[in-house]
Amino acid sequence: MEEKEMKFEAGKNTHENVIFACFGGLSNTGITAALASMEAVKELGLEKVAIGCLGGLPTNVGPVFGKSKAAKKIVTVDGCPFECSKKIVEKTGFKVAKSIVLVRDIGMIKKALHEDIAPKTVKPLMDYIYDEEIRRAKELIVKAIKDK
Ligand code: SF4
Repeated sequence: MEEKEMKFEAGKNTHENVIFACFGGLSNTGITAALASMEAVKELGLEKVAIGCLGGLPTNVGPVFGKSKAAKKIVTVDGCPFECSKKIVEKTGFKVAKSIVLVRDIGMIKKALHEDIAPKTVKPLMDYIYDEEIRRAKELIVKAIKDK
């Protein structure tokens, strides 16, 4: 699809700030990063912040670039020290105002879900996801967006 250049202005015709979350679904850390980011958007509202389409950066999607350029602040949320979203954001030329890494910043212990799912399911997938970790991660994200 042909992309035409689109102009956005933070808070006017787009969100004021953008979160890029790693959304890795293969581990408790990636899933928590995703859920915490969504809770932060619910708390702050879409005018204040939205979750950017991380895949739109390396694939050069015009509106994703436009909204990222317009954002007052870009916050990345990664589950583990691989820092997938921070690296992608920086490699595509954007400045990260705040990087949150759940293993580093809230002391999460990464659990690769395949270890427990194969060869036999030990317990349901979502039993590895804790409300308290989502809440603590969400608080960090909300603070990063609100900080001057
Ligand atoms: S930062 Fe870690 S948890 Fe997130 S997608 Fe990358 S490897 Fe998975």
